[in-house]
Amino acid sequence: MVNNQLIDQFGRRVNYLRLSVTDRCDYRCVYCMAEEMTFLPREQILTLEEQLRLCRNFVDMGVQKIRLTGGEPLIRRNIMALIEPLGALEGLRELVLTTNGSRLKQYARPMRAAGVRRINVSLDSLKADRFAQITRVGKLEPVLQGIEEAIEAGFERIKINAIIIKGRNDDEIIPLIRYVKELGIDISFIEEMPLGTTLAYDRAENFMSSVDLREVIEREFQLIPSTKDSGGPAKYFDLAGTQTQVGFISPHSNNFCSTCNRVRLTSEGRLLLCLGNEHSVDLRSLLRGDFSDDDIKNTLLEAMNIKPERHEFDLNEAPQLVRFMNMTGG
Ligand code: SAM
Ligand code: SF4
Repeated sequence: MVNNQLIDQFGRRVNYLRLSVTDRCDYRCVYCMAEEMTFLPREQILTLEEQLRLCRNFVDMGVQKIRLTGGEPLIRRNIMALIEPLGALEGLRELVLTTNGSRLKQYARPMRAAGVRRINVSLDSLKADRFAQITRVGKLEPVLQGIEEAIEAGFERIKINAIIIKGRNDDEIIPLIRYVKELGIDISFIEEMPLGTTLAYDRAENFMSSVDLREVIEREFQLIPSTKDSGGPAKYFDLAGTQTQVGFISPHSNNFCSTCNRVRLTSEGRLLLCLGNEHSVDLRSLLRGDFSDDDIKNTLLEAMNIKPERHEFDLNEAPQLVRFMNMTGG
């Protein structure tokens, strides 16, 4: 029986898996998807059982945190059949999920009961018409109701993820901060990444960096640097005098690559070793062939050898990656 830890050639220990449970979504956010999307044929998507089997192997090899994402994880049929056994998996310290919130009202309590500890809800606007524009099809009200239900359900932390685009929703930075402060929840501002080509607007011109965002927030609120470290590309601050944490996620910066502790699994079973590079390993063929869990573990160990040292992103270049965010799980 193979029982090794996942450590790459640069000595980084991988203990965090982000799993895209589906590439499908009920929204078409302008920065994430094209208006017309072709999704993968169903048979190419891993079944929930296949996803669970891989997760078990990852946890056996030292993965302590799994984030379920997508696409929209909560539109995957029978998703609780994955969440419940993961929540009960010994060795897994943190099961968390990122959602657009459209079905959160329905799932908040069952997820909490199954052991999901924290959730991130993506929300870029508190104005119904603008929310509909950004998501192309989404409705704001059910998301707000879902967030309230999640607060009632008692998650350890709830965090809003917002992408601010100049000229589109940069007037909502302060209203979003007031909203999370009022509810006693957290917020992270994510810098947009050049993945896929959505052609909805010029990315470089509309880009708002974390530095720009902080400047706007600090005109009204005091931000106190926090000691919290996610091992990832985020910097956290406490909003003075409140429970709220404010994060800034700068995926463009590769300063954090040296401490990168994560890998991603796409919905079709491709293991991505780095968000900004195409280095990947096909795990689906193992799952669907006559391979044992030890074979899977050996493949995961070998995959560590091709985890790249760092990534490069450049907003002024055409996207180097043709994948959309829903393929990689953000
Ligand atoms: N559908 C879920 C949601 O929206 O929360 C989960 C998947 S979504 C791909 C995960 C996160 O990626 C969301 O917070 C979204 O805002 C973010 N995202 C999507 N496209 C992005 C991009 N081009 N750059 C940076 N973040 C992006
Ligand atoms: Fe769907 Fe999330 Fe992408 Fe929006 S960001 S289109 S909600 S996967």
